[in-house]
Amino acid sequence: MTASAQTSRGLDIHFDGVVHLYPSAEGDVVALRGVDLDVGAGEEFALLGPSGSGKSTVLSLLAGLQRPSAGQIKVGPYDIGRLTNRQLLRLRATEVSLVLQDPARNLLPYATPTQNIEFSQRGARGRGKTPPWKPQALLEQLGMGRLAQRTVATLSGGEQQRVAIASGVAGAPRLLLVDEPTSQLDTASRDQVIELLHRINSELGATVVSVTHDPTVAEAMPRTVTIRDGRVGAEGRRGEEYAVVGRDGSVQLPPDVLERLPPGTLLRVHRHRAGVDLRDPELDPHGQ
Ligand code: ADP
Repeated sequence: MTASAQTSRGLDIHFDGVVHLYPSAEGDVVALRGVDLDVGAGEEFALLGPSGSGKSTVLSLLAGLQRPSAGQIKVGPYDIGRLTNRQLLRLRATEVSLVLQDPARNLLPYATPTQNIEFSQRGARGRGKTPPWKPQALLEQLGMGRLAQRTVATLSGGEQQRVAIASGVAGAPRLLLVDEPTSQLDTASRDQVIELLHRINSELGATVVSVTHDPTVAEAMPRTVTIRDGRVGAEGRRGEEYAVVGRDGSVQLPPDVLERLPPGTLLRVHRHRAGVDLRDPELDPHGQ
């Protein structure tokens, strides 16, 4: 499978103080409590965090399925909170692709995998671009070549998940959003999906965001962002974990570190040429 030389540059992402509420009869549920996040065009990262922490909300805001209750979300030149419904629809049909966790919600069940992929390539054609990958080549990359002409409804959950991912990348989106892309896959299929996510990023320059609980997917991504309790709780780069300094100067520490530092703990601020360390004087009484 070879991609043509044409590239679709990725969209950058900026969350500035994003708050999101879901109204309910018992009172509003606060899903995001002030998320600040900057992602460069063409970055590839995994969004991690426990169930209920706000990951799916971040994805649906990025896809423009809803608008933030407060704060600003910019995706490339677009201010998501200010676009009309029509503009949001157009954005999803052309530049942003969202692959939901439940494959059936992404696919036309009575069409074949090939037809589903061709359908999702219409957006690229509408932009005057030739989609870089042929349906059959995409399906073969995911080990699905022999199922290309079957009806989607007759495929297993894992097979449907792979067709959904193939359809999601097929139109060469500038931002690809995937929710738990490997949840129904065996090891070999999982590796093929990770490879395809890397390819749309490296060959077409797309920005790729994967929400995942799968440690193999998280390890395969150059950057991880962890959401906890509706806030960005930690960052990882190439396997190293980092605390995040928020726009208000507060530092978000990983939860296992917080368990060792009860509220009120004083940390010594140690400046040195290579940077700044925060040290617990109790554990490190003579730290220089
Ligand atoms: P995650 O994807 O990390 O599991 P979500 O973004 O789905 O988290 O949910 C974050 C919070 O928002 C949770 O408390 C969840 O119960 C709540 N929530 C999500 N969607 C809705 C909704 N449609 N109505 C009410 N509350 C919701």
